[in-house]
Order: sequence, then structure tokens, then C-alpha cells
Amino acid sequence: MNIRARKIYEALFALEDLRGIFRHALPTGLDKNEEEQLLTGIARVEAIIKELKEGKGSPIKYVEDKIELRTIEEEFININAIQPGGRLTPEARKALIAYGDGYSVCDKCLEGRLDKIRKPPVDEFHAELAEFVGMDEVRVVPGARRGFQAVTSSLLEKGDIVLVSDLAHYTEYLAVENVGGKIKEVPSGEKNIITGDAVAEKIESVKEETGKLPKLIIIEHFDYGFGNEHDVYGVGKVAKGYDIPFLYNGAYSVGILPVNGKDIGADFVVGSGHKSMAAVAPSGILATTEDWAPKVFRGSHIVGDTTGRRFENKEPEMLGCTLMGGTLLSMMASFPYIKERVKRWDEEVKKSNYFIQEFLRIEGNKISSEYPRKHTLSKVDTRDSFDRIAKRHKRRGFFLSDELKRRGIIGEFAGSTRVWELNTYGLCWGRIKYLSEAFKEIAGKYELPIR
Ligand SMILES: *Cc1c(COP(=O)(O)O)cnc(C)c1O
Repeated sequence: MNIRARKIYEALFALEDLRGIFRHALPTGLDKNEEEQLLTGIARVEAIIKELKEGKGSPIKYVEDKIELRTIEEEFININAIQPGGRLTPEARKALIAYGDGYSVCDKCLEGRLDKIRKPPVDEFHAELAEFVGMDEVRVVPGARRGFQAVTSSLLEKGDIVLVSDLAHYTEYLAVENVGGKIKEVPSGEKNIITGDAVAEKIESVKEETGKLPKLIIIEHFDYGFGNEHDVYGVGKVAKGYDIPFLYNGAYSVGILPVNGKDIGADFVVGSGHKSMAAVAPSGILATTEDWAPKVFRGSHIVGDTTGRRFENKEPEMLGCTLMGGTLLSMMASFPYIKERVKRWDEEVKKSNYFIQEFLRIEGNKISSEYPRKHTLSKVDTRDSFDRIAKRHKRRGFFLSDELKRRGIIGEFAGSTRVWELNTYGLCWGRIKYLSEAFKEIAGKYELPIR
């Protein structure tokens, strides 16, 4: 346990308690009792700061009751497959402190529409965000999945066919299921890569089989299983050729690498705030072109039968408003950093390849993803290395997690020594090298040869 990291939490919490005093006081100021509370509270903060300075005292373990502190990012190197791109920036954490209250973004909502709020500058953020992904219009949504849902619900009728990759995320299937659509899978083949040709072939076979064209194509730039890059540019061309709308799934790209939807030939760009944009969950984006915006972001038409009430200003696919507080503000606060970090993607890929190269020096280690790597998420195969040791170790499959944890590394699926995923995104070179050495050290300990 890192005592200083935990003292920082304790000090932050103590400051939150101080903030609570002002939340109950009269606008005219603190009364005598409250002044006293404030002084006692400040003294408590000072005592914690003193312990922080000295690295002493007892570490706190809980936020509240049974809710444990989460110190994974402070106390470990986290190689979890889905978490690194959603790690908050300090700016996002500050925004969360300031805008954590429920409908906090609605203080100055003049038009009844989230994307038109000027203070904080939500409208400006939307304009910049659309530009950032090379599209015309954007809305924030509660996760990439809600972006898929808005599109399937706007475009599909019951029985309509949607093409997805055979490596597609389950949320794509569910978004199609919810509107009574049918899924047809494009084969990624031996290489586990979707090509434009494979999409074209599938369209032809669907046409032959059903006499209809698919109504929508959803393909991810990088799939969640292998982290392989799929030919989204090729898919964009094929989609245009058949005049079928193409939803580019950027859950593992928007916010970590440069994405331009129009260059790709996408009609929709979906991104995930909590996966790749350093934002609080659930958050994401749905961007589109001016051609499709009137359909997906159409205004409400419903009328109340007795009251005659209408809500033309509200967008049904968004159920009016979406991210009304800390989620959106965290995304906005991280945005300046996000715009910069996508420019450093090449370096991230370089680090990913460095790690995998070192990892592969351990005899029996294999990589299931395409190699060299084009992403930081990788699927590795340790059946012929660490799993051989697991078979005769008393902790079985848990031995590797134990050994990694002992070295301050966490995030792999505990007990998985067979085929599993890891993600090096955002680790500095120092951590990348430490991580590489740690695996070699464990291999050495159990006498696995290192090349
Ligand atoms: C994570 C992921 C999703 C789901 O993203 P949410 O923002 O959690 O809804 C969808 N597709 C792919 C390819 C993913 O990796």
C-alpha cells in the first residue's frame, strides 16, 4: 500500500468535508458553530498533509462504508485491456469535483438543449468535437453503444440487415436486435482483418440470398479482441459504391489517434468517452454528416392528445438530453489534452511494439494479434510458456497474476495464463521498460528460456 497516495485521498476527502460546511451555511456567512467546524476541519487537513509529507500514519482503505478506495492507477502499472484510454486527466478529475452534482450543466440552459448551452461552453465543445473527427455534426451520448443505438433506431425497420465484422463488439449486435434487425457477419479470415473486398463479397452474398441490400454497415477501426487494424478506408469506398451508410466504430481510436470520418468515407463516427477520451463513464460521441444529421438528430414530432404539448426542440434519439453533468464536463476538460495526445499515436505504437518484442523473447510466448503491432491493445498467447508453469504451480493459473502484482503490475485478467489481452496505452518509456523486464524476470525465475 502506498501510504502517500492514500494520504492524498484522505486529504482530498477532508477538503470535501470542508466544502460541505459551505453547502449548508447561510449565504450571509458561517455562524459561530460552522466557523469552529471549519477550523477543526482545516486542522485535520493540516495533520493529514503533515503525514503525507512524512509518509507516515495509517492508510485509509474506504471511501465510505463498504466502498473501497480505488488506487490502481496510483499504486500499480495498469495493463487492463479496456481501461487505459479512459484514465482521467487531472483536468477531468477537477471537473468532476466541480460538476459532480446531478444536473450541474443545466445552470444556464436557455434553449432546453444540452448541445446549445453556452456556459459552460458546451456548444463550442460540440463544434470543435465535430471538427476533431472530421464530421459536420456531433452529439454526446452515454457510451459508444448508445451511438450505435441512435443510428440503428433511426435507419432500420424490422427485418433490415446490418453488416458487422465477425469480430464485432456485442453492443453492435444488441443495437441491431433492439430494432428487430438482422445481423450478417463479414468474415475477417485467417488474418483476422476485415477488408473492403470482404465487405463487398458479403454484400453480394446477402443480395443473392435475400434480394435486398444491407441497410447499414458497422465496422470498427480496431477490434476489441485482437486490436487489429481493419481497412476502414476500403470499407468506406465499398459502402459509397453500394450507397449503404457506413458507421465507423471508433471505440478504440477516437481520442487516442487521429480520425477523420470524411476521409474514411464514414457516414457516422462513434467514439467512446470512457474507453478512449479520458472521460467519466458512461460517455461517448456520435458524429455524422449534414446529409444524415436531419434523420438521426431530427426533432420530436409527438403531440399530447389532451394538452397538445409538443417538444420539437428535443431530439428523440437522444431522449432530449444525454450527459448532464460530470460525464460531459470531464470529457470537455480532457479535450485539449486529447487533441494533443492523438498526435503522439506513433510513439504509443512504438512503445507497444517494443514491449511485445521483448515479451516475445520469452520462449513459448506468442502474439495472436497482427505483428508488428499497429495498436497498444494486444492479444498474447502464453499457453506454451507461463501456462506450462501454471500447470505445476500450487497457485495454478493465478501464479502469473501473483508474480505481476508483487512487481506492481495489475490489470490482466487474474487467472489467465493462456490467451489474454493487455494494453500498454499511455505508459511512459520508463514503465514500458519496467513492464518488459518484469515479464522476463518472472520467466527467469521459473527457468523459461529467454532468447
Ligand atoms: C468498448 C467497445 C464498445 C462499447 O463502448 P461503450 O462506450 O462502452 O459503449 C463498442 N465497440 C467496440 C469495438 C469496443 O471496443
